[in-house]
Amino acid sequence: MRIGIDDTDSPAGMCTTYLGAVLASRLARAGFRVTETFLVRLNPNVIYKTRGNAAICIACEGDPDTAFTLTCGLVDELADLGCDATNPGVVVAEHPLPSSFYRKAVQDFCGIDEAISLLEKCGARYRGYKNCRGLIGAAAAVACDFDDATWELLSYRKPERWGTPRSVDRQSLFSAEQETWPHTWDSVDRENDVVVCVPHTPDPVLFGIRGESPAWVETARGWVRSEEPSIEQIFLTNQGTDAHLIPGRIGDLREGCSYLVTGTVSSVPLTGNGGHVSFILGDRGESVRCMAYEPTKGFRDVIRLLLPGDEVTVAGSYKGGSINLEKIQVRTVTRVVLTRPPHCGVCGKRMTSAGTGKGYKCRECGNRSREHEQTVVERGLACGWYEVPPSARRHLAKPLIRGPPPTV
Ligand code: ATP
Repeated sequence: MRIGIDDTDSPAGMCTTYLGAVLASRLARAGFRVTETFLVRLNPNVIYKTRGNAAICIACEGDPDTAFTLTCGLVDELADLGCDATNPGVVVAEHPLPSSFYRKAVQDFCGIDEAISLLEKCGARYRGYKNCRGLIGAAAAVACDFDDATWELLSYRKPERWGTPRSVDRQSLFSAEQETWPHTWDSVDRENDVVVCVPHTPDPVLFGIRGESPAWVETARGWVRSEEPSIEQIFLTNQGTDAHLIPGRIGDLREGCSYLVTGTVSSVPLTGNGGHVSFILGDRGESVRCMAYEPTKGFRDVIRLLLPGDEVTVAGSYKGGSINLEKIQVRTVTRVVLTRPPHCGVCGKRMTSAGTGKGYKCRECGNRSREHEQTVVERGLACGWYEVPPSARRHLAKPLIRGPPPTV
């Protein structure tokens, strides 16, 4: 059986992953055999999300009615039901839900009625609280089927400390990264000297370590010195897999979906107010603006090196008419040739124009030439993939250390 939960938190506190961790432990205590805990990230552009649009699925063996009662009881106990925007959903399914629903929820948008009719059709037990929106995420989590997966160890704070400053030793996080990278990633951003894996929000999360296996995230965790956690859980997750990206074509992009798009740079990149960098990407007569926002830091330096004619593939969400860049593949760099008057073959001075169509003349010795000097400009931009730094990376974005996006 699979249990799904979503939409239990609010900006003021709680976190569905914490509910998942507590539920896994209570199920085990009640005699269930928990076989897997999934942290399922869904479409990052959903406006209803509190933070990272996460939902939880727990695969276990035991009595479904007891599981349903236990899960609903925990939602009643812990969800921030007082918040208008918190609309929890609980699903307990003895039979698989179609993975197409998961794929739609991670790459597109789903409706509440759509989730409910799916649950009815599949004979799942479910409970939607308030406007029932959480049933979308809960059903999608139960339906999850990852083509690629990573792991995250989440450490949670004791309830009496929620809302107070977190005590996690900064240097110990850098040591954890140093000792375990590239098997774990994004605990810190070494390039920008910032800690990434400790949130600043009032939720129960103390820190999270992301990596390629349970063993590696546990090894990294062993380096971390912090306040004493209340509970820890290792989740199998679609984070860091680019599961949100779909192949797209300029002129055919839908608001709120995330794409891999190939085209030709058609404008010189501009740095606008606030340090955001933009350029226009074109393909077959259509064009779209690509944005590298200020928080992407050094990534913008790569974007500033682009020139019209360069062929690139970009990855990112299409929002408000722009693609917000998560990474970019420079496929070809256009050759830029600088044409100048030549040096004089007699006296070595730089010649000057002798007038339109008349070639060049040496002002020093009067020598004439029709040949100009051509220099290939050193572009300083190599072909290959470039990505935003860990501090600006979205949960679903695949770090290049794991390889390029799946569909390229
Ligand atoms: P939490 O920790 O509580 O899960 P969150 O940042 O993950 O916080 P939610 O509070 O769960 O965000 O809010 C997201 C809401 O959007 C949920 O109700 C979920 O069911 C819904 N949702 C998720 N994905 C989609 C989608 N693709 N289309 C429509 N609704 C979605």
